[in-house]
Amino acid sequence: MSIVKKVTTHVVSTPIKHPFQSSRGWLYKTRGTCLVEIETQDGIVGWGECYGPSAVAKAFIDTQLGPRVIGRDAFDVEVVWEDLYNRIKDYGPKGMSIAAISGIDIALWDIMGKATGKPVHKLLGGAFRNDVLAYATGLYFTDMDRLVPEAVEEAQGYVKAGFKAIKMKIGLGSMERDIERVAAVRKAIGPDIRLMVDANHCFSVPTAIRLGRKLEELGIEWFEEPISPEDIDGYVEVSRALDMAVAGGENEFTRWGFREAIVRKAMDIVQPDVCAAGGLSECKKIATLAITHGVECVPHAWGSAVGLAATIHFLAALPDQPPSLFPFSPMLEFEQEENPFRDHLALEPIRQVEGRVKVPTGPGLGVEIDRKIIDRHRVA
Ligand code: MG
Repeated sequence: MSIVKKVTTHVVSTPIKHPFQSSRGWLYKTRGTCLVEIETQDGIVGWGECYGPSAVAKAFIDTQLGPRVIGRDAFDVEVVWEDLYNRIKDYGPKGMSIAAISGIDIALWDIMGKATGKPVHKLLGGAFRNDVLAYATGLYFTDMDRLVPEAVEEAQGYVKAGFKAIKMKIGLGSMERDIERVAAVRKAIGPDIRLMVDANHCFSVPTAIRLGRKLEELGIEWFEEPISPEDIDGYVEVSRALDMAVAGGENEFTRWGFREAIVRKAMDIVQPDVCAAGGLSECKKIATLAITHGVECVPHAWGSAVGLAATIHFLAALPDQPPSLFPFSPMLEFEQEENPFRDHLALEPIRQVEGRVKVPTGPGLGVEIDRKIIDRHRVA
């Protein structure tokens, strides 16, 4: 038994030196997150993380969800999940309410691991791999006067650092500019580095299809979020029109949210975020649903060391699709823009070597939290 005694939320934020943006048009000037700390009666502490506006996640947990977890056994993680979801779904079957549940769920898995002395991936059914191939997410828009050279230089930096796969942002307002930038990056990194593009849903269906056909000539592996996430019919059209894989789902939530996209094969790859879509408990179900329908599950990740570690355990426990002698295993999204909470929140930071990241083997998530970082950057 690991009975929950206390649920605490920590909202942290810090300004960054080099603000950046994607086609969403949001200028990222700070990095931050909402961390969930759950303590049991016998003194075990578990950590979780919520994706999205941190103060909103905190409000959901502090006022609605946290009090319902007090007195529950962490090993009843599925029972707790159903209770929290059924409490909140009338007001928030998607969005920040589910991100809040995700943070609690991850912390409960961390507790179960620490209570049993096992890493989370063992509790999820075991690791299919001891390390995961990581791709660098970057190549946002920073210097609007140097969009092509800055992308080329950044991509070359990732290759030099050992990455074998890179994902770049597109959506510069003209097809010619996007193609010029992607082509320059492809030329600079050569044909052997895997390259993906992410439009953050800025295109219409016809534009996405026309652009996608040109991107296919540049050896792009997947086209992420070509169009708006609500338009499942549109995703079906784009997916059928293009030979390349179409990906999406970082802004979808729960098995019910993913159901239609998966059943209709609107996407070749679904990308649930463990800190948003419902935690490890729910993402395991989403992955099973995807596998059942011949859709790949390659999780989205954009968080601190806590969310990153949870994502790595989830990936370790995902079978290859399809299983083969030389499989294309699901990759880890290793976002590379400035983020002290990714790099310094864990006493032992998560690193890539030659483009691979080792699956943590310590109990729970396998990361030890540096409380000084939380205290220094706490805003709520
Ligand atoms: Mg994305």
